[in-house]
Amino acid sequence: MQSTPETVEIAVPLPLEQTFCYRLPDSMKGAVAAGTRVLVPFGRRTLTGYILGTPAVPPPGELKEVRAVLDREPLFTARDLEFYRWIAAYYLHPLGEVIRTALPAGLTMTGKDRTVVAADGSVLREEVLSTVTRCREERHYSATGKEPPRSLKGRAVELLACITSTPESSASTLRSRFGACTPQLHRLEELGLVTAVNREVYRDPFRKEAVERDTPCDLNEEQAAALTQLAAAIQKGGFHPFLLHGVTGSGKTEVYLQAIVHSLAQGRTALVLVPEIALTPQLVGRFRRRLPCGIAVLHSGLSAGERYDEWRRIRRGEAQVVIGARSAIFAPLDNLGMIVVDEEHEATYKQADGLRYNARDLALVLGKQRQAVVVLGSATPLVTSVYAVRQGKLTDLSLTGRVNNRAMPCTTLLDQRGTKNRTLLPELAAALQENLVNGGQSLLFLNRRGFATWLVCRDCGTALTCPSCSVTLTYHQQKKSHICHYCDYMIPAPTLCPACDGGEIGLLGIGTERLEEEMTALFPEARIARMDRDTTSGRGGHERVLRRLENGELDILIGTQMIAKGHDFPGVTLVGVISADTTLNLPDFRGSERAFQLVSQVLGRAGRGEQPGRVFVQTLNPEHFALKTAAAHDYEGFYREELAQREDAGYPPFSYLAALHFSSTAAKEVEAEAGRAAQALRELKRQLRLRVEILGPAPAPLARIRGRYRWQLLLKSVQRNGLHRLLGQFRSSHKPAGIVRMAIDIDPLELL
Ligand code: ADP
Ligand code: ZN
Repeated sequence: MQSTPETVEIAVPLPLEQTFCYRLPDSMKGAVAAGTRVLVPFGRRTLTGYILGTPAVPPPGELKEVRAVLDREPLFTARDLEFYRWIAAYYLHPLGEVIRTALPAGLTMTGKDRTVVAADGSVLREEVLSTVTRCREERHYSATGKEPPRSLKGRAVELLACITSTPESSASTLRSRFGACTPQLHRLEELGLVTAVNREVYRDPFRKEAVERDTPCDLNEEQAAALTQLAAAIQKGGFHPFLLHGVTGSGKTEVYLQAIVHSLAQGRTALVLVPEIALTPQLVGRFRRRLPCGIAVLHSGLSAGERYDEWRRIRRGEAQVVIGARSAIFAPLDNLGMIVVDEEHEATYKQADGLRYNARDLALVLGKQRQAVVVLGSATPLVTSVYAVRQGKLTDLSLTGRVNNRAMPCTTLLDQRGTKNRTLLPELAAALQENLVNGGQSLLFLNRRGFATWLVCRDCGTALTCPSCSVTLTYHQQKKSHICHYCDYMIPAPTLCPACDGGEIGLLGIGTERLEEEMTALFPEARIARMDRDTTSGRGGHERVLRRLENGELDILIGTQMIAKGHDFPGVTLVGVISADTTLNLPDFRGSERAFQLVSQVLGRAGRGEQPGRVFVQTLNPEHFALKTAAAHDYEGFYREELAQREDAGYPPFSYLAALHFSSTAAKEVEAEAGRAAQALRELKRQLRLRVEILGPAPAPLARIRGRYRWQLLLKSVQRNGLHRLLGQFRSSHKPAGIVRMAIDIDPLELL
């Protein structure tokens, strides 16, 4: 990076559109570059800002001075900044906040080599920034090859022999082998027999398990064809986006792995995005066994320090492949050659607050900026992705069969209408019994945790709701409490009805906890476990349950969506969906698509081993096209119907959407503000003559969460530019009144 002359342009992480100019004091000139953080005076405060570069036209007048420089080396490059600027413009989000989101949170915890140079040239002490922790450092020894004197005896001789036999030994390995040996090591150093260096060591999130290399599979014809196309694109260079459409178990991951090898061979790096829930040690292990390079893993289970360590490894070029969830899109990989987005249809790629970005969409943007190959993979691609294929914007790669031609499971939709809420319909109960007898494993899927999900007073009929959210409470038997799943509000059960003081609360609706209890009663000999957020808290909770299933120590596993995704269970031959309707009935234009994805995914869990699988889906909507096509493994049929409905209703891909969310603790205020915003938007739209449809304002379907009242506006347009122009102007000219918070959501996924 070039050093910057005296005026610098700086972005601050505040909800402000503009950037600011500051003057560098003489002591800092030539010492700071774009991409570093500085402390700047801002109003009465001191803030951390990011140096963007030199302003094209330095502003007139007196500028304030930068107070201190926080980094020795830039944290982002000019190319990163190009990406950040794109994001800020597209998502209508302040650049400083985009940069803060992109950089690892652990940055405030810096290594010991941090120097803070203040404006007067003095070095600020580290305490100035309250959260400085040290990186661990470790001593490493290597032999100098000199002859040891005869007087050297005992432990020191053994140590020297050990150090001589390897290129470099770390103090901790030596200590674990020889016990406390620091004095002896000092002695060897004094005698000039060994040299010592201090190295920074990383906090390794995956422990240092040695991995055995495995060999690539011989690809089947379809896999080979897909790989040929990918390899050719990698060879050629440039931006090439692909959609890899293949059912679960069709060998997509194998294709990613072999394509990445091609990219590495070209000296280019690779980024693999997976949904958080699929980011398991099994998956990471598969990459480690195969790829002969540094691999960094980024996910939400890492501590801030671990995250920062992984980030630095990537920045320093010590990892050529990054596997991570959503936020890994910001991994500082240099020379990026390939981006994989596995399960591209997953809603978890969208961040729900702050910078509401979608990592799947950003993968295409980044691929274009870096001239990389992008592979979006899914068994159930988004309707919009397949539409893009048909429009020639994505290249289609299809894997139609399962590896080894394993059969797709046979799926039956069971009609729950008029069955008085029986948990299991007779067909599913019989199949479970039969599978138990045959020694097969079963999964039961229910997307609601807790025991009873609908609590009503038997005297007055009032439902028990959360005092700060507009949702009903869920009874959790283990905790003997009624709990709100949005804000974790909890009251001990039993309780009195708040409306009539009646004493008997009826427990209706079924959650995974009750399902487990009922199954235990129904199949007393079966080994049953449950996997949901309540049973798997803490690190590795997930893994323990899954390992029991893998080892054949379970007959029935009950779970929420956690068990529907990403895992490979060869022993499972039966899957039951207790109710497919929760997803279908979401107040969202993607309800059908999500139901199709969910049922297809659940199907993918059955019969991945030698045995063919069976699937039963209970529903009140057995005629619904999304369920019927999913059961028939008919993506094309689903696509046709869904696309026709989207076209009729004018939803994506036939329009672009944006939402405005308003929230406040004051009900009247937020309603009024949403109304004012709608009026301002309609006025602007008229002035600018834009074709944008403005729907609302309306209370959000979840009208209150954590005590905040919520309203929203939906904007729809066939012209993406028009939508952006309108919102851009609106953002510059309209300030929400009072304490109302407003958030702009471009390409919203959830309208709850
Ligand atoms: P997907 O990612 O589409 O679910 P995977 O790549 O995980 O599929 O493949 C499913 C299973 O089949 C894995 O255990 C994988 O090792 C194996 N597999 C993939 N491709 C082949 C192949 N060409 N020959 C043999 N086994 C394969
Ligand atoms: Zn609540």
